[in-house]
Amino acid sequence: MPWYYSHQDQRVGPVTDEELHQLARTGTITPSSLVWRDGMAEWQPWSVAGPQAFSGHHLCQGCGGLFPNDDLVQLQGALVCATCKPLHLQRIREGALPVGEAGVPQTFGDGKRLVVALGQPLPPRCVCCNQSATLTRRRKYYWYPPWLYVLLLLSPLILVIVGLIVQRRTTLDLPLCENHATRRRKRLWIAWGWGLASIAGMIGLPVLSGLLGLTSDYTGWLIFACFLSLIVALVWGNRVAGVLSVHRIGKQTAAFSRASPEFLASLPKWPGGPIV
Ligand SMILES: [Zn+2]
Ligand SMILES: [Zn+2]
Repeated sequence: MPWYYSHQDQRVGPVTDEELHQLARTGTITPSSLVWRDGMAEWQPWSVAGPQAFSGHHLCQGCGGLFPNDDLVQLQGALVCATCKPLHLQRIREGALPVGEAGVPQTFGDGKRLVVALGQPLPPRCVCCNQSATLTRRRKYYWYPPWLYVLLLLSPLILVIVGLIVQRRTTLDLPLCENHATRRRKRLWIAWGWGLASIAGMIGLPVLSGLLGLTSDYTGWLIFACFLSLIVALVWGNRVAGVLSVHRIGKQTAAFSRASPEFLASLPKWPGGPIV
């Protein structure tokens, strides 16, 4: 019997049982998505309708997909599928559990931005491509209110002091697939190499020009170029390591840019309003 489901305020279907399962496993259908098929009195959340329609099945609390009970393992009170198991174990090791109850959306997408409830884990799908994530990478993010930079007109010292007072911090465990974790690691190596080469230039150029007897202002410019190159390496390395960029960090939620459109589309829609 064909199914219909709601996705981004639209009713989609018909789809077969198998297609429905696939959509749930890949996050298009989330535990709170409404689904319906002939014979049901009304649309019901997938977390309710799924286990009712397929007896002997339960929702994986990692990905929200529906699986036969035999294919799920119980880990610290949560039922997870074989795909979600490694990531779940990693989270247990890192003390990040308990994972939120399936059906309670804690992460939202609004087309461009990812909105996260602070302290809650992201769904176990790669933020770069929305494939199943195989690992997470912990990363700290900082945010400063935009008015802060006006203080630079007064003095850099005041900027730094006030900045330390008003900064907001949060930590994310970024879910990544194998491909994107590898890409990130490679780029971090490049950033490190680039940064170290810039530092080597800053230290080595004065020595070298002394040996060769070059004019000093020429060397000065080269050292300045190395310094700029170091700044660019630091900024780029930070961007690579973070994967996402901070848009704003509030007291309860934070917004990030640069998550993939597929990942954002798989999340419940952010109802709007300020990031607080
Ligand atoms: Zn799963
Ligand atoms: Zn990926």
